[in-house]
Amino acid sequence: MQELLRRITALAATPAERQTRARELARVLGGDDLVVMLRDSEIGAFLPAPGFRQTLSDATRWRQLTAECIARGEAFADGMGLGVDDPRRPVYAIGCSDDSIVAIIGATGRPHAADELIQLLPLLTRVLQGERAVDHATARERVARQSAAYAERLVSAFNQSRVQLEAALAAAEESRRIVAEANVQLQDQAMEMEVQSEELQSQAEQLQAMNVELEKARDEAAAASKAKSEFLATMSHELRTPLNAIAGHVQLIELGIYGAVTDEQRAALDRIDRSQRHLLGLINDILNLARIEAGRVEYHITAVSVNDLLSDIAPMIEPQIHARALQYRVVIPSPEIAVRADREKLQQILLNLLSNAAKFTPPEGSIEVWCGTHNDRPHLAFIRVTDTGIGIAEDKLASIFEPFVQVNSGHTRPAEGTGLGLAISRDLAVGMGGELRVRSTVGKGSSFTLSLPLATRDAEDERNSTVMQSRAD
Ligand code: ADP
Repeated sequence: MQELLRRITALAATPAERQTRARELARVLGGDDLVVMLRDSEIGAFLPAPGFRQTLSDATRWRQLTAECIARGEAFADGMGLGVDDPRRPVYAIGCSDDSIVAIIGATGRPHAADELIQLLPLLTRVLQGERAVDHATARERVARQSAAYAERLVSAFNQSRVQLEAALAAAEESRRIVAEANVQLQDQAMEMEVQSEELQSQAEQLQAMNVELEKARDEAAAASKAKSEFLATMSHELRTPLNAIAGHVQLIELGIYGAVTDEQRAALDRIDRSQRHLLGLINDILNLARIEAGRVEYHITAVSVNDLLSDIAPMIEPQIHARALQYRVVIPSPEIAVRADREKLQQILLNLLSNAAKFTPPEGSIEVWCGTHNDRPHLAFIRVTDTGIGIAEDKLASIFEPFVQVNSGHTRPAEGTGLGLAISRDLAVGMGGELRVRSTVGKGSSFTLSLPLATRDAEDERNSTVMQSRAD
């Protein structure tokens, strides 16, 4: 009995060694292994106690054995279906109660210590049930702990989501506020724009009215300008007649037709003659300009060889060049260059440019004429008159093409020009489809560039002249 108690206690103490101890006890009892079945309080069925042999291969057979054992206090069966190594070996179940059963495998009859075992069984049962309860509690605690951790994770995730949601809500609120503000601003702007639009509308109406008035004024100005040009043309014509008469009479007096002429009288006649010629030149220029402006100039356009024309002009300016001891050079890399122009008017422009160059270049300076084609505008030829004269101040460059402007008048004698030459030259150049430009540096010299359409071979072949009417602006 003492031995049994010791073994049972040892069985309960260390679950890991139970299998070995159970076998030892089984051998003491006359079998070779031991099964302890405990009723599980949660599911109500008998299950093998942890650490003992697990024999539930056929639950039905075990249930039958258990039922029989509970009914009679003990039961005897062969091992068939009970998970025993050798199914022919018997199984002896004893100590049956509502809570536990001990089955001895391999016992061929009732074990000799069966009664003591039956008495001690409640003790074992309590220990094992307690152990199972602890296991359950541990498992429950583990599950509870897991659930708590899970819940904690859920709470943390929930909190995170809540924080994110709050942030999103705050952002949405901020966006709503910004949109509301923008909306207010937009409304303000819309109102402002409406006001501006009304203002613009009224300004547009005013502009239209002004436009109408301006058009009227422009028409009136054009009519007045035409009338002025016509008046000038007529007046110039009327003035030339008496001036020519004056010249004739001066000549007659000089020739002594009206009696002998003293030296003083001759000097006075000379001055009269010079003044008459200056006045006549001025009137001719005015007439010229007035005609151009009134659109009464005809251009007989032909292909003009620049080389030929410059050769023709050379003797005309030779006296001026010679008088001031100037150097004169013509550079034409392609002598065959021809321009489409009215020969007479082109000659007039070149003579004006050359005589200006001679006029405004100090003695022993030089004048050069270059001719070529523009790189960037290949349909245009240029004739450039460059001098090493006094030059023109930058701020005066634009005005020299205006009628009656003489920027260097301080350096030249008043009788040396009318201030109309460049105005006429530029108008003629434009009238022939070209342009006249200037570059100049004070003290170094000036360069006037006349550009005219290049005469192509086809144009030359036409051998006819085109008559163009100058623009009446
Ligand atoms: P004019 O020579 O009869 O005075 P232009 O219209 O031909 O009239 O020239 C206007 C002015 O432009 C001249 O009075 C002169 O001041 C300036 N000018 C023209 N050509 C030159 C030049 N080659 N060098 C310096 N100044 C010039």
